[in-house]
Amino acid sequence: MERVSIVKCNDYKTQHVFDSVSRSIELLGGMNRFVQPGMKVLLKCNLLMRKKPEEAATTHPEIAAAVAGLVKEAGGIPIIADSPGGLFTQRALRGVYRACGMEAIASRDQIELNYNVDAVEKSHPEGKIIKNLTIMKALEETDAVINIAKLKTHGMTLFTGAVKNLFGVIPGTTKAEYHLRMKRLEDFSDMLLDISTYVKPALSIMDAVIGMEGQGPSAGDPRKIGAILASTNPYALDVACVSLVGIAPDMVCTIKRAGERGLCSDIKDIALLGDSLDELKIHNFKIPSHKHVGFIEQFFSEDSFIARFINNRFGPMPVFDYQGCIGCRDCEKNCPPKAISMADGKPVVNMKKCIRCYCCQELCPQKTVRIRRSRLFEIFR
Ligand code: SF4
Ligand code: SF4
Repeated sequence: MERVSIVKCNDYKTQHVFDSVSRSIELLGGMNRFVQPGMKVLLKCNLLMRKKPEEAATTHPEIAAAVAGLVKEAGGIPIIADSPGGLFTQRALRGVYRACGMEAIASRDQIELNYNVDAVEKSHPEGKIIKNLTIMKALEETDAVINIAKLKTHGMTLFTGAVKNLFGVIPGTTKAEYHLRMKRLEDFSDMLLDISTYVKPALSIMDAVIGMEGQGPSAGDPRKIGAILASTNPYALDVACVSLVGIAPDMVCTIKRAGERGLCSDIKDIALLGDSLDELKIHNFKIPSHKHVGFIEQFFSEDSFIARFINNRFGPMPVFDYQGCIGCRDCEKNCPPKAISMADGKPVVNMKKCIRCYCCQELCPQKTVRIRRSRLFEIFR
């Protein structure tokens, strides 16, 4: 059985978070099990973009501070790191650390922030879909990784948790290349699993105190969940997290594919430690509206020509709200196939080129990109 600990945590007050994080790790054997004196430990947070902690798009700084405190108590040296969306430069990192509250807790608690923006090529012979990876050099310069994810919905993958968080070890705009190479959700999910099996985090922790529902991972709504979860197995942690918010694990492609690799995809294979998942369970957690599909797949296999034809013609597409758009061009710059161009200062998508990765929605600072299916499809459905 895989083990996942779940501990109530009602708010982000420093002491409450520290007590809950501490208990969640204690239930797994304590931080000394994962960190030896002198070890450099990379705390891989979710720092998607410049967002304030209360927007619930990024790992809350108090969670990172609590984990860092426990790493220090075990004699290790914690380093907060991520490669956010967009350019991976020291200047961009500084802006993200500041906005996400990491700069403040780093200075309060004397925690190192990573500013190494170099990349290295590594081979991963056991990878199913990628045998060579371009990753942040900082990862190679530390002795262990603790994965600190945020529980959120996601336009492409439906759910983003422990496994998807590790996509952030791919530096900056190289992520766009990976999107281009792995356009199908199934391939993209396999690629995420390859990255996760390469990184092999010693421990994964989920910030589910306040998660994000609806149009995640950045344009959704904060939703109080009230829990912190932890596991040595990031696949099991994701299964426990989706079960907590009422998403069927087999709706999430990374979980389905993890099951096919024997990495854990079923809550029955998990021993839950700590507080009761059933008592903490969230009802009516909103998933992205365009993910309410199931309809096509009821009649045709998802790989069939007809399902692919319907999805190509009537699949979810990005729609821009020009009233809220400030013309910053972040969507244009980060669109992997360069399907977006600007006309009169506003983005326009060439749907023939669009690969439906939804990076434009993910990285729009104004939350002005919505993912919608065509009206014809909705009427038919
Ligand atoms: S990222 Fe958002 S605000 Fe910026 S140009 Fe694109 S749609 Fe407009
Ligand atoms: S337009 Fe948006 S969804 Fe389409 S490929 Fe570009 S970033 Fe991805």
